[in-house]
Amino acid sequence: MRYPKLRELKEAIRALLKGPYTTKFPFHPHKPFERFRGKPYYYEKDCIGCTACVNVCPSRALEFKDRIENGRGKRVLTYTVDVCIFCGQCQANCPTEKGIMLSQDFDLATTGKRELLKQEIEKDLLLCECCGDVVAPRDQIAWVAKKIGPLCFSNASLLLFYLENMGLAAKGNPVLKQDTEYLRADRLKILCPSCRRQAAIKS
Ligand code: SF4
Ligand code: SF4
Repeated sequence: MRYPKLRELKEAIRALLKGPYTTKFPFHPHKPFERFRGKPYYYEKDCIGCTACVNVCPSRALEFKDRIENGRGKRVLTYTVDVCIFCGQCQANCPTEKGIMLSQDFDLATTGKRELLKQEIEKDLLLCECCGDVVAPRDQIAWVAKKIGPLCFSNASLLLFYLENMGLAAKGNPVLKQDTEYLRADRLKILCPSCRRQAAIKS
């Protein structure tokens, strides 16, 4: 017969005195430890729609789609919990540090439909006034303009967006160009990088 080692005996006595190490969840609520990585949530107010989180998400739990209709654009960012591996990369790489944050929510089992496991937020897009392509989300442009301060006056798109937001310039509507002819005046429009390059070269 083999006798238990001293260490095991000590552990058995400690367990008898202290009770089981495991929690009594779900019969009693469980509070995870402070740095526990639970379900991430988008916070629409602090998200600028830059998609950095989508690009670093290793499991494709985050996705985005740009929808453009009648000269208006929307970026839809979607989080799907059932493919998330709770790595925390989205939060770590968010430039505003508050656009997406992990919570302590861990009790995620459900019998609901997959659609109910998604969180969606929308961001208005700024469109190129020449080709109608996406420049960036409006919130992202505003965030960049605030970040760089007076330096934004060196970029026509940023400057026009800034003036437009202050009500000092009329809202530009995309006028889709049928030809490749860019005029000098086009340089003073909100343009996507491709049209800005073409306007600089050809005008
Ligand atoms: S601001 Fe943060 S949460 Fe929003 S899209 Fe960018 S990285 Fe993601
Ligand atoms: S925690 Fe990781 S897997 Fe989950 S959404 Fe964020 S980056 Fe993607």
